[in-house]
Amino acid sequence: MRDLRVSVTDRCNFRCLYCLPETEEAADFYRTKFDLLKNPKPATPIARIWKPKAQILSFEEITRIVRVAVGLGIEKVRVTGGEPLLRKNVESLVAQLAAIGGITDLALTTNGFHFAAKALALRDAGLRRITFSLDSLDRENFKKITGRDGLAEVLAGIRQAKELGLHPVKVNAVIIRNLNDHEIETLAEFARAENVSFRFIEFMPLDSSRAWQRELVVSGREIVSQLQKRFDLVPVGSTNPSETARRWRFADGRGEIGVIAPVSEPFCGHCNRLRLTSDGKIRTCLFSLHEHDLKPLLRGGATDDDLADTLCQIVLGKEIGHRIGQPDFVQPERSMSCIGG
Ligand code: SAM
Ligand code: SF4
Repeated sequence: MRDLRVSVTDRCNFRCLYCLPETEEAADFYRTKFDLLKNPKPATPIARIWKPKAQILSFEEITRIVRVAVGLGIEKVRVTGGEPLLRKNVESLVAQLAAIGGITDLALTTNGFHFAAKALALRDAGLRRITFSLDSLDRENFKKITGRDGLAEVLAGIRQAKELGLHPVKVNAVIIRNLNDHEIETLAEFARAENVSFRFIEFMPLDSSRAWQRELVVSGREIVSQLQKRFDLVPVGSTNPSETARRWRFADGRGEIGVIAPVSEPFCGHCNRLRLTSDGKIRTCLFSLHEHDLKPLLRGGATDDDLADTLCQIVLGKEIGHRIGQPDFVQPERSMSCIGG
């Protein structure tokens, strides 16, 4: 295990159709799809209850777990959520994490809406890398997908991150059939024009409405073959077997695209990730059906050695792989916003 994703809140100011689909437009979208798929009975949505503050880890508790995990071999740490910039003074957590020796890569994933206000503080706290989510460059479609009229703010955030020298700036888009698949080329063009690393991600069954359907997934292969018709793409090799993205650069040298295809081409065998939820649970897989609560240890006087032993035991039970597409697949109890993407 080399990579730890730390969720600092389960709250969010967006309602993305693939994560927290709670808007009327999201309901309409899925209703049409279910009619089309002749599947009138979507599964029961996950009830969203924000965790009370007392159950959320403090910055000191998070830093302690990360320090112990780094002692065991974790090198990459990503701060995420929910929307991490909603957590008050998140820059002070970034500063505490940046002070831990042994982290080679400290990054943060955000929907970007509040980034402008926090950018300088985050950079000064020691943040080196940032990933934005941006699923559409069309104002109306952006609003339909995220539930928020925030395209201008996110674009301004991306430009500001570049100006501040956070490098590389990465941008993620979840592509969904008949929602934003017509924007794939425009988004790739954006990557080239803005000189950013763009990642197209397959839609995974982690939405709170449990409305995911295989038919809505646009496969990584399909995305690449569409882009290859339009752009001259050169494959970018990698020596890291745990890298989740297959990558290409544009032959003219600016920007990069990648696809992350966990549904159609699972990479579980090489997974080196762990997740810490905002309420102190370790998840060994995005699709874990079981979580390991560290709070009783943290708040019950356990030593760092106790924590380290527990983490080692937890890791031994890491799942062999997700079971998407298998008859016995069960969607986790919590949506992506609570797990930490
Ligand atoms: N709120 C921040 C954001 O949106 O960037 C950080 C948390 S979000 C859960 C992290 C990433 O998970 C985002 O890039 C988002 O696109 C991705 N994500 C959320 N739900 C997903 C799903 N059902 N399938 C694939 N990716 C998903
Ligand atoms: Fe919020 Fe990120 Fe989920 Fe969108 S993907 S609802 S921004 S947590």
